[in-house]
Amino acid sequence: MTDEKKPSGPDLTRGVSLADFKDGKLLGHVGDEDVLLVRLDLEVVAIEPHCSHYHGPLAEGLVVNDTIRCSWHHACFSLRTGEALGPPAVNALSVWEVEQKQDKIVVRRKRRAKAAPRRRAAAPDRIVIVGGGASGFAAAEMLRREGFAGAITMFSDDSAAPVDRPNLSKDYLAGNAPEEWVWLRPEESYKDAGIDLRLNTRVASIDPRDRSVRLENGDTVLFDRLLLATGAEPVKLQIPGDEQPHVRTLRSLADSRAIIAAADNAKGSTKRALVIGASFIGLEVAAALRARKLEVHVIAPEERPMERILGREMGDFVRSLHEQNGVNFHLGDTVARLDGKRVTLKSGDVIEADLMVAGVGVRPRVALAEQAGLATDRGVTVDAYLESSAPGIFAAGDIARWPDPHSAANIRVEHWVVAERQGQTAARNMLGQRERYSAVPFFWSQHYDVPINYVGHAEAWDDIKIEGSVAAKDCLLQYRKNGRVLAVASIYRDLDSLKAELAMEQGG
Ligand SMILES: Cc1cc2nc3c(=O)[nH]c(=O)nc-3n(C[C@H](O)[C@H](O)[C@H](O)COP(=O)(O)OP(=O)(O)OC[C@H]3O[C@@H](n4cnc5c(N)ncnc54)[C@H](O)[C@@H]3O)c2cc1C
Repeated sequence: MTDEKKPSGPDLTRGVSLADFKDGKLLGHVGDEDVLLVRLDLEVVAIEPHCSHYHGPLAEGLVVNDTIRCSWHHACFSLRTGEALGPPAVNALSVWEVEQKQDKIVVRRKRRAKAAPRRRAAAPDRIVIVGGGASGFAAAEMLRREGFAGAITMFSDDSAAPVDRPNLSKDYLAGNAPEEWVWLRPEESYKDAGIDLRLNTRVASIDPRDRSVRLENGDTVLFDRLLLATGAEPVKLQIPGDEQPHVRTLRSLADSRAIIAAADNAKGSTKRALVIGASFIGLEVAAALRARKLEVHVIAPEERPMERILGREMGDFVRSLHEQNGVNFHLGDTVARLDGKRVTLKSGDVIEADLMVAGVGVRPRVALAEQAGLATDRGVTVDAYLESSAPGIFAAGDIARWPDPHSAANIRVEHWVVAERQGQTAARNMLGQRERYSAVPFFWSQHYDVPINYVGHAEAWDDIKIEGSVAAKDCLLQYRKNGRVLAVASIYRDLDSLKAELAMEQGG
């Protein structure tokens, strides 16, 4: 037996016919490489068939004009150049030369990558990015893609180079993904790209008039444009005993490593973990710790997990999914006291646990913005171009509250893809382009083998229309207000989720 992967579909060097295409697509191979053919209006194009984010199958994606969107996490690629146009993908895909004679399509070789030279208006010389997370990373990467040749300095008070943060509560924490998968780019690649990445470096203040940032060590760095991308930090429990070392939160790679070490150390003792809060992160941690064979208890004040965001039906489903996987819920209850490994709940119940993880929400890191006198409103207030109240200072990601054209409200969300997309838009606007940020919000969450995708933004709704069956993990839920669809959540209806996103983009 060999586990070598067989190439997909027909041999494209021998040629295929247009009649062989299904829904405008055909998956074949050239040698041992898979190639996806896509029929556009007048021509056929050929592209590497797996998303450069998590390898999602583009054959199941949605073609929009001359782009293709991945059904897993909504990344978007140019079908003509392979460029990653939309996060979470940032790396381009290979495209292939297509020979077309009447009905016959032949593919033999990859097209040579052409660096697309881009022009920009009078560009600034020095760009400073505060934050080495999703937004900061995406901005720095896009600045270079846009041909910016000036200085980029990226400060991060984290000890790790930018990581795939969503993985820290999922496969990496569960032990199903090696650590090398979590890096967005190898650390040396920042130097190669001329990005001065300064880790363990906290920016202490910003002076918008002098256009300078002051570091904690007293150094001052000048900027022409600044991106504030300081993200969010976990809310602390504020209960007696929460400062003990076995009570953890999860934001950084160091946090995730510490939880893994604590889970490993729990082996041989009671092997019991307590998750405080039934948030997305809390429940993803619960799933990961179950994969590590710990007994897991979740304590949360609400009646059903995630009801506020996903509604009653999805909340019940998420609860029963975790229960089927052995998680014990203590809902309608909270922690009153932590004494060493003993936890006393408000109900009077007592649980002993080796490890406790608090997932009770995050708060945006707005201290720098407030100190600099920028307008804030439960986040940093930005305009449609992601510029703050101080000209030349932009904000993106978890800290930014922007005018969302779809909900006609100023919103702030904590989604990975939104943070990356905003970082990219801010990068272009720092270079003098005037690009409005108008993407429809998208996030995903993963619990065991069940992915939940969500497009749009609904803080309140009148009703939820359910297509399919939530319990059967095959559903699409529309959150509607005054008859308008504000958001759509789905399980294993990936193409429908992409279509819903497109409809919202088009004003539907
Ligand atoms: C464990 C986990 C799992 C998640 N899973 C998902 C998911 O499945 N799907 C999803 O859509 N979203 C998910 N999220 C949310 C997502 O990761 C965030 O929305 C996203 O990271 C926000 O990006 P950001 O750039 O705004 O902030 P961050 O990625 O948090 O980056 C902020 C950066 O700023 C730095 N910083 C802050 N203050 C300073 C300062 N004064 N000086 C220097 N540096 C500073 C920090 O060190 C950090 O490098 C998850 C988050 C976590 C923590």
